[in-house]
Amino acid sequence: MSEKYDVIVIGAGLGGLSSAATLAKNGQRVLLLEKHYRPGGYAGSFVRGRFEFEIALHELSGLDLEGKRGFFYKYLESLGITKRVDFTKLDTVYRSIFPDMEITVPAGREEAEGVLVDTFPHEAEGIKRFLGRMSATNRALTLIQRGADFNQKEIKENFLPYLDKTLTDVLNMEVKDPKARAVLSQIMGYCGLPPSELSYIMYAIVYDTYIRYGGAQVKGTTQSLANAFVDVIQEMDSEVRVNCGVKKILTEGGTVTGVITDNDETISSKYIISNVNPLTTCAKMIGVDKVPSSFFQNLQTKEIAMGTMNVFMGLDISHQELGIDDFEVFINGGYDFDAAWSKGRVSIEPSDFAAATYNLAYSDASPPGTTIMVLTTLSYAQPWYKVPPSEYVATKNKMAEKILTKIEKIYPGTREHIEVIEVSTPLTNMRYTGNPGGSILGTPYSPNNIFMSRLPQEGPLKGLYFAGAWTQIGGGFQTCIMSGMMAAQKVMVEMTKK
Ligand SMILES: Cc1cc2nc3c(=O)[nH]c(=O)nc-3n(C[C@H](O)[C@H](O)[C@H](O)COP(=O)(O)OP(=O)(O)OC[C@H]3O[C@@H](n4cnc5c(N)ncnc54)[C@H](O)[C@@H]3O)c2cc1C
Repeated sequence: MSEKYDVIVIGAGLGGLSSAATLAKNGQRVLLLEKHYRPGGYAGSFVRGRFEFEIALHELSGLDLEGKRGFFYKYLESLGITKRVDFTKLDTVYRSIFPDMEITVPAGREEAEGVLVDTFPHEAEGIKRFLGRMSATNRALTLIQRGADFNQKEIKENFLPYLDKTLTDVLNMEVKDPKARAVLSQIMGYCGLPPSELSYIMYAIVYDTYIRYGGAQVKGTTQSLANAFVDVIQEMDSEVRVNCGVKKILTEGGTVTGVITDNDETISSKYIISNVNPLTTCAKMIGVDKVPSSFFQNLQTKEIAMGTMNVFMGLDISHQELGIDDFEVFINGGYDFDAAWSKGRVSIEPSDFAAATYNLAYSDASPPGTTIMVLTTLSYAQPWYKVPPSEYVATKNKMAEKILTKIEKIYPGTREHIEVIEVSTPLTNMRYTGNPGGSILGTPYSPNNIFMSRLPQEGPLKGLYFAGAWTQIGGGFQTCIMSGMMAAQKVMVEMTKK
């Protein structure tokens, strides 16, 4: 058994990539093992015909603005990612379409407030108070991150009282009109729960950050982001192997000692960071008998977040000719998001969905005169399990048809210009990333599953750490990248104790 690696990282999703890059930049010799043929996990692309499709990203948070860069951008900069990747800012945060109204919320705190107030003048005061409250909550979090005392007024008033509150608890106090409430809750899917179950604090941070700074896209798809991480890791004399899954994590007396790959190679290391979901890591790769049962009991208390159904389309017409002006457009069947979400938990029937047109983020997303449009609806794996395998393809195509019928009403002519089409479901997510339920966010952000209530980076065995959506801070691009950084830092602190 060789021992030439300080740390082995399993899985090259965003959490795995950032942990490996952080360690490598800090002089550790890392081996990153990925079972797929490409790095990135959900962050990446695939090609059909003359189109390269973004798999996941709709809106990247945390880049802030030129001249006002925050911690996340500076972290990417310190790794050398920002000079390798071209980020592009989005002008609007979202456009919401309902059966009897629509609204486009622009990026920029004042601009967004102006549009919301103009659309719902009878709710002007409530909307201003709600937006102000979310900003105050977001500011309080920044103070906490900078190490402020929890007794500080801003934290005591704008953060602590809301720890157990849902979005509905706070929003409904300020805003009465169900239409205005729906518009203000529109990006709840980014946090994985409907308003009545979603942590207000988490939503406030996400919403305030998006409207303040706008979202961003990655030019050339997020495969270029994943590839940039790989370049950084390899440049620092660490190693990345794709097509090289791990089937077993070796342990000795409650301490990890190495891994066995799918090719039956045994590689030893005192530290392992797993970007594979913690259930598979501990139950399958280590073994239930070798992990304290309290770990599994804790896991059982957590809900698995939803997956997605996507309709990826390459169109042989420009977005201008189809009259598409906004990058992220939500098409809603009604204003009661809780009711729509409940149906989605038990049915594969798509209801509300988002249409992302990548040429509006960067014009060369596809060949001249063509368009890439991806329709995404949130979808749970459970109801898909009931579809017999022999009917799976026909069923997913039938569901895609239903979404297409709805998009036709918004952008007539779309269907006749489809050159290539590919449909994915939560089962596709499971197949490619191994995430239970095809979850895109690990466990969702309910009030009892935020910050320290989520699984920590430290695993249940000595030397074992987690990175990615299932752990702290949670699911999403920015958060998974940060979770990898946190795992790497914890490993390095542990190393200094030797
Ligand atoms: C359609 C869609 C849209 C999304 N939109 C957004 C968005 O707009 N904004 C946002 O912030 N987030 C978005 N997300 C969520 C975001 O993409 C995820 O939360 C994040 O990418 C998860 O990263 P992760 O680190 O948990 O790793 P994952 O992406 O889960 O990757 C895990 C990796 O581990 C590998 N692996 C598994 N088992 C093994 C093994 N045994 N050995 C070796 N390797 C293994 C897998 O192959 C995979 O590469 C979206 C996701 C999807 C699917």
